[in-house]
Amino acid sequence: MNNGKILVVEDEPSLIETLDYSLRKQGYEVITAVDGRKALEEARHQTPDLIVLDIMLPGLDGFEVCRILRREMNVPIIMLTARTEEVDKVVGLEVGADDYLTKPFSMRELIARVKANLRRVRIDREEITTTTTTPNVATERMIFDELTIDLSRREVTFQGRVHHLKPKEFDLLVFLARNRGIVLSRDLILERVWGWEFDGGSRTVDVHVRWLREKIETNPSDPQRIITVRGIGYRFEG
Ligand code: CA
Repeated sequence: MNNGKILVVEDEPSLIETLDYSLRKQGYEVITAVDGRKALEEARHQTPDLIVLDIMLPGLDGFEVCRILRREMNVPIIMLTARTEEVDKVVGLEVGADDYLTKPFSMRELIARVKANLRRVRIDREEITTTTTTPNVATERMIFDELTIDLSRREVTFQGRVHHLKPKEFDLLVFLARNRGIVLSRDLILERVWGWEFDGGSRTVDVHVRWLREKIETNPSDPQRIITVRGIGYRFEG
């Protein structure tokens, strides 16, 4: 069983051991690195499918490692932070991290994030994008309890009511749903749903989220599905 190759960058021996054991148990091949330089070396030579990267490392820190790797490869990076300050998350997103876990975290949580991030990359590789409806997705439906997203008809049913969304509204919902459980920054959402050439600003995302909530939330002012992550963006709970 090989579900993918994961590079774990962490300088705390007991945590490396726990991560190594837990990930192997889930069928992942695990490579470890205890500092930033070793991390870069392993990432370049082993081309992992995903990297779990601690921020506080001796020498080159996790932010720096992330910034360098982003220029070289398109691997999902989950950052581990001991600090809870949102500034860390913002800096992390700026340097290109895909996801965050604040220490202490449970292995169950880590595995869930690893799976979600790998799934997202695999979807990307299959070129099922949010902006085009390919024949592959023509029959696909995403179902979350009372919410059904019909990708062929581009319509959404919530609590038995059918909604025909505006094109970008629909694309946004699909993008959020496909990346469920992952915090998505406004910039990333803009880039992926609206495209690089769009210069309408991140308020556009907020406006579309508000429209979506009016259709798919029981109480739009107390959203349970599209959650606001302060200072960053949004996360879809599915
Ligand atoms: Ca550390």
